[in-house]
Amino acid sequence: MAILDTAALLAWPVERLSKGIVATSQLNELEKVSVEKAMLIESIDLVWISPDEINLAKARNAASNSGDLTKLSAVDIDLIALCFQLNDELFTDDYRIQNTLTKAGKSWKSVIQKGIDDVWVWMQICTGCGKSKVSKSDNKDSMCSHCGSPLKLKKKKR
Ligand SMILES: [Zn+2]
Repeated sequence: MAILDTAALLAWPVERLSKGIVATSQLNELEKVSVEKAMLIESIDLVWISPDEINLAKARNAASNSGDLTKLSAVDIDLIALCFQLNDELFTDDYRIQNTLTKAGKSWKSVIQKGIDDVWVWMQICTGCGKSKVSKSDNKDSMCSHCGSPLKLKKKKR
């Protein structure tokens, strides 16, 4: 499981949060947003960790190198420090955190997937008979299995 920022705690369903790694300081941040939400989050089987001083120093150093330090909150720094401490990836939509992690060679993912995959599917459409099927990444046929005509890819809304 990965490290989750507060946006993930607020946006994701409980099942998806299960076993996620969070910074202890996030609970405080959550309480400011919603006491009920904080209580709910507290009841989930999350792994609460406070980063150690060595990794906090690494996080501050990385944020300073990327020019983001002054704009990051204490919780942000905790999350970056957890990336160093656990060598795990962080789910965050905060572009300053993303920038700091990228420049430090650490990995992150977006909380809200803006990726095309969620909304669109690729269809393979035959230029001959017009048959179409959903294109999977492991299936790169260029010919129609039905009539042998070339296929073309088309984006289709789910
Ligand atoms: Zn065909």
